[in-house]
Amino acid sequence: MTTNRDYYEILGVSRSASGDEIKSAFRKLARQYHPDVNKDADAEEKFKEMNEAYSVLSDADKRARYDRYGHAGLGNTGGAQDYSVHFEDIFEELFGFGMGGGSRAGRRNTPRRGRDLQMSIPLTFEEAIFGVEKEISFERDETCSTCSGNGAEPGSSIKTCSTCGGRGEVRQMRQTFIMQMVETVPCPNCQGRGQVIEKLCRTCGGRGLERKQIKKKVSVPAGVDNGMQIRLPGEGQPGSNGGPNGNLFLVVDVKPHEHFQRKGEDILLNLNVNIAQATLGAAIRVPTVDGEEGLDIPAGTQPGKVFTLRGKGVPRIRQSGRGDQKVIVNVEIPSRLTAEQRDLMEKLAETLGTTPKPQQKGFFDRLNEFFGD
Ligand SMILES: [Zn+2]
Ligand SMILES: [Zn+2]
Repeated sequence: MTTNRDYYEILGVSRSASGDEIKSAFRKLARQYHPDVNKDADAEEKFKEMNEAYSVLSDADKRARYDRYGHAGLGNTGGAQDYSVHFEDIFEELFGFGMGGGSRAGRRNTPRRGRDLQMSIPLTFEEAIFGVEKEISFERDETCSTCSGNGAEPGSSIKTCSTCGGRGEVRQMRQTFIMQMVETVPCPNCQGRGQVIEKLCRTCGGRGLERKQIKKKVSVPAGVDNGMQIRLPGEGQPGSNGGPNGNLFLVVDVKPHEHFQRKGEDILLNLNVNIAQATLGAAIRVPTVDGEEGLDIPAGTQPGKVFTLRGKGVPRIRQSGRGDQKVIVNVEIPSRLTAEQRDLMEKLAETLGTTPKPQQKGFFDRLNEFFGD
């Protein structure tokens, strides 16, 4: 079933065509010449030819060999079977259904992995920082406790399906435009189960599964952040026909903190000091996630100055070490003064002079330096 014509010529693309160009050229031709659409005598032949060309040119390795050695370079691998594998994919892509449908998608009793489940896990700021043991509760299907999963009402019989002999699938002949083929489809009598149930289980209606509320202890590692997912393997929906269970994913949802903000591994704290503390310097106490810590504010501290408390940030997930806490100092200007304070401030004002001068580097520049990316 191989052609001697040049593959590039068949698809009408240049030898330097990109993968996308080749694909789109093929699609256009395939729609035009597909034998179900095009009834010309040679349409089928053309369709096979372009399929062969596409299956080579869309495969980087085969294309390289073809470019180098021509048809001879594909001699040992380019059999009919090789092309037909591709054929199915293309068919599905173009027309939305498979050729060998029965063997690929339809069979019911092949093992299948259960679906994944997802839910959010709300945490406080501190829980996300230090990790926590949490009990979660969620719904999932489990093997039905009434019928132990076989779908039959207790006491009623389960018989091997007489139509398929218990295999769950039947063979049928199908005429395609190229050849007659035998395909296997799910047995219509037993819907692929291989067994016929006399009386369906009242609890699960024959599904073999029952919805249950599951409680589970989860250990949240220290350092998780918003949007991260914690994977609990095998805690999703059950698999069928012996397939493995799906997974459960917990999406971390951290409540904002009253004072702290998080920036990667660092914790940020905006802190107000008064003009005397900023001017004269002060030993103050600042909150951290570990409790209060001492911080020396040097004399002449400007608004926006950032102090670092090493190792007081977020623990690195499943590693040692922690980020820092950054304390961003804001100098609070008093909006109300007592008579005495006003008096003192006026005296101070006299000594400071009255000429404003342009800033060298301002508060916002420093903030930008710190927050900027
Ligand atoms: Zn049941
Ligand atoms: Zn059957």
